[in-house]
Amino acid sequence: MPRQRVTVGACPKCGADELVCSYNYFSSDDLTIDSWEHKCADCGFRETVAYRSDDDDVGDDVDPRCCPFCQRRVDPENL
Ligand SMILES: [Zn+2]
Ligand SMILES: [Zn+2]
Repeated sequence: MPRQRVTVGACPKCGADELVCSYNYFSSDDLTIDSWEHKCADCGFRETVAYRSDDDDVGDDVDPRCCPFCQRRVDPENL
């Protein structure tokens, strides 16, 4: 499973510059899942979001390849 981790800056909870943005991409026959996690390596602060292609709650204006927390973009073909 492709995975990309980038340190994106300061933790909103403890302020340490240890906040890591992780992107995971999962794909099977007709299902794709794009998931995002921000986690602080210092205090353990964590927030996650996952976008499933079979989830009707994901609107057309949502870009699953764009982090909802820090707005960075990934290209799953080039991880
Ligand atoms: Zn922290
Ligand atoms: Zn991010």
